[in-house]
Amino acid sequence: MSSLSKKLMTKIGFERFIPQIDISDKKSWFWRHGVELPEIFVPLWQLLVDKTLLEEVSLKGLHDFLGFNGRIFLSLVMPDELLDNLRFKDYFRLVKNLGPDATMIPDNYTYVDDPLFLSWSQTVRLVSLANDFLKLDIPLIGLIKGANHLQIDWAIRKQVEMGYVSFAMPARELFEDNLLGDLLPSALMSLKWFSKRTRTDFELLLYGIGRRLKYREIGSYSNLSWFLEAKQGHYFKGGKLYNFKDPEIRFEECTCEACRGMMPQELIDLMLSDKELGLKTLALHNLLDMNRALTRGR
Ligand SMILES: [Zn+2]
Repeated sequence: MSSLSKKLMTKIGFERFIPQIDISDKKSWFWRHGVELPEIFVPLWQLLVDKTLLEEVSLKGLHDFLGFNGRIFLSLVMPDELLDNLRFKDYFRLVKNLGPDATMIPDNYTYVDDPLFLSWSQTVRLVSLANDFLKLDIPLIGLIKGANHLQIDWAIRKQVEMGYVSFAMPARELFEDNLLGDLLPSALMSLKWFSKRTRTDFELLLYGIGRRLKYREIGSYSNLSWFLEAKQGHYFKGGKLYNFKDPEIRFEECTCEACRGMMPQELIDLMLSDKELGLKTLALHNLLDMNRALTRGR
């Protein structure tokens, strides 16, 4: 790798909870339904798999297309098969056309059971693209990735040397594979150590899971769980997930802006008479509950 550049960056200043939205499904565009939150993540991959949508959004830019006035962050966490097709010039063009307020650096794929040279070459690629991304003139979000502690530590160190101060850690797959409990603490330790050494304050966002973890170093969370779980008929209460037919919560009224006194049973009834409206209400309820649960104690 050629030598790395450096750029002076300031923290993005993430909200405690930043909902991801589904850009192809307007039911997830919560601001159109009366809920106001200042920031969202839009996953780029959803546009890459839909050419027509990508063209339309590229023409208008994300802000105009979505009609969203808050800050829009572009997520580059995406399925492996899409990653291989993208070079820096593609990312550069996409980011220019879409006009987000900040973007993640590109994702890579590292698996703990891959041969080490593979995950190292992916880690080197991550750092190399993080270096290319310094040429973009919008705020950047570094990524915390790696198949083991060494790779994570090295990737963080290189990004810190380039000036990155805001980081996201894609957590969904690690969580599902039961690896988060091992890799997250070491990532936090690395961040802490570099923070001390460079006298810099970093911020960390956990990306892709819908529950609050016990680590206080995690400043922010982002996920689409509030919406995906609603589509499965799941209901959040106090940050916990229930089937909305669960007798424990089924007949308890909810006073949130979306439910306005309805209990889950009434949401079930609503879904039967107007599926669209029922799902929309449940999703908004989940969004509000998750926001409350994740912002609590601040
Ligand atoms: Zn509610």
